[in-house]
Amino acid sequence: MDNNYTVLARKYRSQDFKSLIGQDVLVKTLTTAINTGRIAHAYIFTGIRGTGKTSTARILAKALNCLSTDGPTANPCGVCENCRAIAAGQHIDVMEIDAASHTGVDNIRDILDAAQYRPTNGRYKVYIIDEVHMLSTAAFNALLKTLEEPPAHVIFILATTEIRKVPVTILSRCQRFDLVRVPIDTLKKHFAWIAEQEQIELSDAANELLARAADGSVRDGLSLLDQAIAQTGGHVDEAAVMDMLKRADRNVVVDFMDTILSGDTARALEMADNIYTNGADLVMLLSDMMEWTHWATRMHPALNAGDMTASPYTADQREKTRKIDARVSLNTLSRVWQVMVAAVSEMQMSGNQKQCFDMLIVRMMHIADMPSVPEILKNNATAKPVVQPVAQPAPTATQKNTITNADELGHAMQADREILLYTYYSENIEVCEISDGKLKYFDRKGDRDFPIKLSAWLEKHTGKQWILAQATESCHVQTAVEHQQQELASDPMMASALGLFEGAEIVEVSK
Ligand SMILES: [Zn+2]
Repeated sequence: MDNNYTVLARKYRSQDFKSLIGQDVLVKTLTTAINTGRIAHAYIFTGIRGTGKTSTARILAKALNCLSTDGPTANPCGVCENCRAIAAGQHIDVMEIDAASHTGVDNIRDILDAAQYRPTNGRYKVYIIDEVHMLSTAAFNALLKTLEEPPAHVIFILATTEIRKVPVTILSRCQRFDLVRVPIDTLKKHFAWIAEQEQIELSDAANELLARAADGSVRDGLSLLDQAIAQTGGHVDEAAVMDMLKRADRNVVVDFMDTILSGDTARALEMADNIYTNGADLVMLLSDMMEWTHWATRMHPALNAGDMTASPYTADQREKTRKIDARVSLNTLSRVWQVMVAAVSEMQMSGNQKQCFDMLIVRMMHIADMPSVPEILKNNATAKPVVQPVAQPAPTATQKNTITNADELGHAMQADREILLYTYYSENIEVCEISDGKLKYFDRKGDRDFPIKLSAWLEKHTGKQWILAQATESCHVQTAVEHQQQELASDPMMASALGLFEGAEIVEVSK
């Protein structure tokens, strides 16, 4: 690379509002305000890094001071003395302050003292304070004083990645603009255009990878493109970018998840070895596995909540995902997801990522294999492979049922989706005696509405009036919840599940 190489992010930095990438709302609001002469004394720009906060600040400074018109203009010329000096960061009236290195109150006070003097060459003195959340409390207070009574010729433009760390007193005196993550398609268009300007070959698949890795940041995406150009000599294809990003191929990710979810531990560990040997970053791989799980969940037949054409997968990979979805329950996907979420920080902190990753796989396979708690209850604690849960139709009002024991009573409430009734029943009611049409119970809490609601529901469910008798003291039997917890704790599958997580206990049994 020659010494005069300018990084793409700087070379293609937006110079006017029209060329700001992906910030249409902000551009519209700001240009309208400038065109109608509504200029605020303080602005705050917030958004993730690389979305154009300081670029926007500089454009705004140019708009305020451009000499091509008599007053502020939404279309700064870019060629007058002021515009050029501001673009180069050398204008005497436009101060760029990095709050990260000027956090102290003295720095800020010096700057604010100078604000009292009129601008030298421009209409306005513009103070651009980047990463403003880094200022000390004393510095914020000094700034606040100036913001409360700003000299007419002074404009503050604050920028921050962490708006929550900026005091409300400051925020309330600023016009706030949120810079959004730039959408993938917009990034792709931008990168393709730059590749053309630079006479670089950039394949569509490579561009897609870069745009996704950029995660909404133009600057991050462009520095990746810089790197890819340097590594490939200007022929940027998918394989090169994958290699650079240390990403495993999406086909590999789908196959890997397929193996994990089919329960072949030995094969899954072998695949992990291969992926690792081929140089993939395991944290990235985990993030790719999570991405797949997210899409597999969205397109699962039980949900059918996603337009898979919007996913990053090819038609073949989508078809494969559909096949996996057909044999795996939604429940399994969501549990596998939870295990992966927990593993993210574990992996980042671990001294040995490969070990950590292998253990994650083993844990995922355990989880994938295990029936859910409701399934354990339903199958009377026999371990069975996970099957697709089948929605049971609620009995219609014309179907009349009998209830002869406490279990049936609880199940019937659940089947009828009497959630409130069931919750109260399962937590507070001891069933002392029950036969079809007669119930004697003890209510530990003594809710007065419960017998009324229970009686109404029983009549609806069984088609006859029940005789309810409320015991005045406990008959020393378990409530439904206590019964379930005891059953679960003695279940071998559950015991092994609890054993997977140190210190785990059954806190709640959900339906
Ligand atoms: Zn100008």
